Amino acid sequence: MTKQLYIGGEWVGSTSSERIPVINPSTEEVFDYIVAANADDIDTAVKAAREAFDSGPWPNMKGAERAVLLRQIAAKITERKAELARLEVMDNGKPYPEAEWDIEDAAGTFSFYADLAESLDDSDEVIPLADERFSCKAVKEPLGVAGAIIPWNFPLLMAAWKVAPALAAGCTMVLKPSEVTSLTALVLAEIVDEVKLPPGVLNIVTGSGADAGRALSEHPGVDKLAFTGSVPTGATIMRAAATEIKNISLELGGKSPFIVFADSDIEAAVEWIMFGIFWNQGQVCSATSRVLVEASIYPQLLERLVEEAAKITIGAGHEAGTLLGPLVNESQYQKVLTAIETGVAKGAVIACGGQRPAELKTGYYLQPTVLVDMQENNPVWQEEIFGPVVCVKPFTAESDAVRMANNSRFGLAAAVMSRDDERCDRVARQLRAGIVWINCSQPTFTEAPWGGYKQSGIGRELGHWGLNNYLETKQITKYDSDAPWGWYIRS
Ligand code: NAP
Ligand code: MG
Repeated sequence: MTKQLYIGGEWVGSTSSERIPVINPSTEEVFDYIVAANADDIDTAVKAAREAFDSGPWPNMKGAERAVLLRQIAAKITERKAELARLEVMDNGKPYPEAEWDIEDAAGTFSFYADLAESLDDSDEVIPLADERFSCKAVKEPLGVAGAIIPWNFPLLMAAWKVAPALAAGCTMVLKPSEVTSLTALVLAEIVDEVKLPPGVLNIVTGSGADAGRALSEHPGVDKLAFTGSVPTGATIMRAAATEIKNISLELGGKSPFIVFADSDIEAAVEWIMFGIFWNQGQVCSATSRVLVEASIYPQLLERLVEEAAKITIGAGHEAGTLLGPLVNESQYQKVLTAIETGVAKGAVIACGGQRPAELKTGYYLQPTVLVDMQENNPVWQEEIFGPVVCVKPFTAESDAVRMANNSRFGLAAAVMSRDDERCDRVARQLRAGIVWINCSQPTFTEAPWGGYKQSGIGRELGHWGLNNYLETKQITKYDSDAPWGWYIRS
C-alpha cells in the first residue's frame, strides 16, 4: 500500500497519483512505495501548520504541557524500537546495531527537549536598565511555522533533531524527509497521531526535493526553514528564504580532518580513524575523511589501518556481524565510485579497497577504501565523498598539520589525537570547525552544540542552541514612573 501524507492530524492522499519506489539497498529491490507530494499538498500542509500556530492551543500551552506529549513520543519510539530499526535497515542499509542506536538517540532527543520545554516556563529574563524609570524583560516565544527538510543518512534521528526542539518551543512544522528514506518518518506520524498531538502541529509530507522540497522552501506561509543536506541544496534553500526573509538554519556537508600526532597509541588511532569514516558507510556529515599523520609513525599507522580495514565484515544490515552495509542507493554508489576514479586519475593511490567486494554481486556494496599519496588539491582530498573512503597524508610540523586541516571550504568537524593535553587544546582552538574531538572521532551528544563553520552551515542544532533555533526573543518594556514624559506636553 502506498503510504499517505500526514496533514492536519489526518492521513490524506496526494492530489497527484505519482508514487516513489522504496528500494532496499542490500537487494536493489523495490519493497514499498511512498506518495510523491506536489506543491498543492505542501500548500495544504503549510496551511494546516499555519492554522495550528495562529489559532490552535499549541504555541500558548505551558512548556510543561508540551513536555508531556514530547515524553509520550519518546516512550512510543522506544516501544517500537525493533520495528523502527528494522525499517531503517531496509530503507537505508545501515547495520542493525547502528539503526538501534539511532532509534534510541531519537527517543533521547525527544526526552531531552521535553526537559527544555519545561525550562521555558521559567525563562523570562529581567534586563536591568540604567534608566530606572523603566523595567524591562526579555521573553522567549515560538517562532512560528517551521519547514524542515532532512537527508537520508540518519532518517529518524535527523527528523528528531528538528521536530523535538520545534515542538518544545511551541512551533508547528511541516517535515519533508528525503524521498530515499521516508518510512520511519511515517511511523513518527503514526506516533504523534496516537499521542494526540493537536492537529496540524506536525505535518509529514513525503516527496522529492525538486517538487515537495522546493515548494516547502518557497512557501510564503513558512516562517523558518531548518535544513540538513548538501551545500548546493543549502544555497538553494538560502535563496528561497531570502524572498520573505525567512529565518534559516543550515547543517551542510564536511570534509573533516583528523590529526594524529606521533605520541598517540597507534591501535587507538586506527580504531578511531575507522570509526570516523566507516561508521554508517561513511555517509556521515562529520566523517573524518582526511587523516593527517605525523610522518614518523605514518608507515606503521597506514599498515595497521589497511590491515584492519580489510578485515571489516561487509554485508546486509540485518545480518549479524555486519559492520559495513551497502551505500544508500545506486546514484550515491556511482557518485562514490566516480570520486575514487577521479582521485586516482589525478594521482591518488589506493592502499586498500576501492571495489565491490567479489562475493557480493547485488547491493550497493563497496570495500572500505584507503587512499594515499594525493596532492592537497586532489578532489578526493577537498570534496566530500560521503562513502567509506578515507584519505591519509603525512605531516611533519604541528603548524603544517593545522594549515592542511584548515585548507578546506568546509568546517563542520575535526579531530586531534595526542598524549599531550596542552597540544590537543592548542590545536583544537586553531581548527576552523564547529566540533572538535580530542582523542576520539564522532561521538555526538544531544546536550552539546552541533553545526559548522564556513560552508558547513549556519547556526547550531542540539542542546539549548537547538531550541533557540525555534524561538523569537521579545523585549517587553514598561514605563514605571508617575512623572509625565514631558516632551510635547510640558506642565
Ligand atoms: P541533498 O541532496 O541536499 O538533500 C537533502 C534534502 O534536501 C532531501 O530531503 C532532499 O530531498 C531535499 N532537496 C533536494 N533538492 C531540494 C530543493 N531544490 N529544494 C528543497 N529541498 C531539496 O543532500 P543528500 O545528498 O540527501 O544528503 C547528504 C548531504 O547532507 C551531505 O552533504 C552531508 O554532509 C549533509 N549532511 C549534513 C549533516 C549535518 O548535520 N551537518 C547531517 C547529515 C547530512 P530528496 O532526497 O527527496 O530529493
Ligand atoms: Mg531506500
